Amino acid sequence: MTVVRVALPVPLRQHFDYLIDPALPAQVGCRVRVPFGSRQLVGIIWQLAPADGFAVDKLKPVLALLDSRPVLPELLCRLLSFAADYYHHPLGEVLISALPALLREGRNLDDYQPKAYALTTQGQQLSADALKRSAKQHALWQALHKHPLSESVLLQQHRRPTLKQLLDKQLVAEHIVPATPFAAPPKPVTGLKLTSAQALAVSAVTQAFGRFERLLLEGVTGSGKTEVYLQSIASLLCQQQQVLVIVPEIGLTPQTLARFQARFDVPVLCWHSALSDSERLHCWLQASSGAAAIIVGTRSALFLPFWRLGLIIIDEEHDQSLKQQDGFRYHARDLAIKRAALQHCPILLGSATPSLESLHNALNKRFIHLPLPDRAAGQALPRFELVNLKQQVLQYGLASQTLATVKQQLALGHQVMLFLNRRGFAPALSCQECGWLTECQRCSAFTTYHKQSRQLVCHHCGASKAIPRQCGSCGSTQLKPLGQGTEQLEENLQQLFPDIAITRLDRDSTRRKGALHQALDEIHQHGARLIVGTQMLAKGHHFPNVSLVVIVDVDGALYSSDFRAPEQLAQLITQVAGRAGRGSSGGTVLLQTHYPEHALLQDIIQNGYAAFARSALHERAQTCLPPYQQLALFSAQAHQSQHCQQWLQQLAECARQFPALQLLGPIPAPMERRAGYYRWQLQLYCTSRGAMHQALTLLLAELASWPLSRKIKWQLDVDPTDLS
Ligand code: ADP
Ligand code: ZN
Ligand code: ZN
Repeated sequence: MTVVRVALPVPLRQHFDYLIDPALPAQVGCRVRVPFGSRQLVGIIWQLAPADGFAVDKLKPVLALLDSRPVLPELLCRLLSFAADYYHHPLGEVLISALPALLREGRNLDDYQPKAYALTTQGQQLSADALKRSAKQHALWQALHKHPLSESVLLQQHRRPTLKQLLDKQLVAEHIVPATPFAAPPKPVTGLKLTSAQALAVSAVTQAFGRFERLLLEGVTGSGKTEVYLQSIASLLCQQQQVLVIVPEIGLTPQTLARFQARFDVPVLCWHSALSDSERLHCWLQASSGAAAIIVGTRSALFLPFWRLGLIIIDEEHDQSLKQQDGFRYHARDLAIKRAALQHCPILLGSATPSLESLHNALNKRFIHLPLPDRAAGQALPRFELVNLKQQVLQYGLASQTLATVKQQLALGHQVMLFLNRRGFAPALSCQECGWLTECQRCSAFTTYHKQSRQLVCHHCGASKAIPRQCGSCGSTQLKPLGQGTEQLEENLQQLFPDIAITRLDRDSTRRKGALHQALDEIHQHGARLIVGTQMLAKGHHFPNVSLVVIVDVDGALYSSDFRAPEQLAQLITQVAGRAGRGSSGGTVLLQTHYPEHALLQDIIQNGYAAFARSALHERAQTCLPPYQQLALFSAQAHQSQHCQQWLQQLAECARQFPALQLLGPIPAPMERRAGYYRWQLQLYCTSRGAMHQALTLLLAELASWPLSRKIKWQLDVDPTDLS
């Protein structure tokens, strides 16, 4: 017996040694099933015969070796090992989370590979009348006499039980058909005639093929970034290289996927959370065999085992959904860059509103900067107008100037989009007599009133309950909705514009399967129409008939304590505004606010995102905030607030040993209570990545032995994007 070191999906920062029969073809990256306490777990072999292995007589043997070939090829092992180190997350959990669910469960990979069937020698030698008594078996035997059949072809003519009978009689044998890589197109497909900025970008990307290079495509909304992606890919496909396109939320933008599928005559697959487990494994296998040429997917597509990856594209690289917000909190953009480095291939980041991190890298010349300053088909960028809400009588939250402009645009046959980042009917119900507000019992938050589903829902913990008849404080029955959400805005607009069709796009209206597609179809049918929605509207849609975008209310977001809030708000406003005027008619954006003099609003509307972002970076430099310092966030949650505070206090004391660290906290999290837990945080800042890394390693080793560490729930988030 020899020793193998195994990474297991347990929250422990260590490996586990087991014995294995040396005759088995064990390799690093293969799965094994092992005993662990009273359970059995699926783990990944991480080291063969480690030099510091335990005494052999103390170890248990593995129960089974599940793979004859690594499910995690060497390059992925290196990527994931880097990720576990960088994010200080237990390696076993990182490795296992990179596998599709069916592989995590220990399923046999061969069961999911395409199969073919052929007669065995015994089957070939069978006399023609041996199967006479079963017509079906005879027919299948005859068919296979001509040539072997793939599973799918065979099942078109014959039934599975018949096949099973012949397999049982050993007349037929099953073979795995190795999937073959996609066929390279003979020459690149041509697309639109590029603008000169697009052409420069495409040539920069194609010149980077075959080596590691980072490129930032900073293209205003409607500048034709997708066309740059498509034409960059075209020649790569001819070299039989695969492409990974990471998009924020694929479900929201089926258009993007459709454009890749329409352009190229190669297999384009998608990868996202709505796929079934077997669909995901299918996609994983197609990536690995090279049968898939292009994979368009959400952040975890980053861990697919590509056969020959030639380019990674991250569309909307600023998008927050690229960061995983629980468990293994990685940032897909940052890990994709690491992957490209390991893979020796270029990575192209695209956005109209690049993150300050990427912009910083571009301005520093670490990334090649590819600007697309104009819209592709020559349309002007939308024109902003601030609508001062102070001392105005509003009708349903809309100023008279806003309503007049909406009417005018509808009369011209255009579409109008109204953006309000609050779903539901109203953010709370309020008592008319005493001012009491409906609050979540478990969170420091109000509960949103949903009129259609007749419920009060907490948007933070998901708890829902029936609408109360009476005030929880004075017993009055005078409860009224307070404020406005998209559900109410839709209802009100319908009253104001009874003849105009309205489409609402938010998480509630698109929950039902197929509802989003239907809504997008409605919008794409031209003609006057109102579109109401939340930040779902900001996601890369191309609706050419929208001439006016109304930003109903951003005031709540103007004064936030989070240092990233201005960046995120500027991105949101610019992205929503960017839906206007993408067709032949020009675009206008009306931004309603009580704070028209606010510096952020003034900066965005007068100078645009690009200028805003550069001055915001300057501010970050002066205040020593990321990307000019590293940030790591420890957060603690417990039923008792003082447990969180004590634990973080202890951590802070420990952290003070490291003079390179600057501490902020312990402080209560902006959202002090969520789902019944009190929440506190400690922010660590450091100018040196190395020093931060060292400090975190030591802190984690220390806190492992504290009794309080087991009483509370705690997390470490390296490069956090959400400080709420
Ligand atoms: P972005 O992703 O940058 O917002 P899109 O890729 O959606 O922009 O492109 C916006 C529109 O411009 C699309 O309808 C696209 O077909 C069109 N377009 C892109 N490039 C060109 C070009 N070179 N000439 C003409 N139209 C173009
Ligand atoms: Zn009351
Ligand atoms: Zn709640």
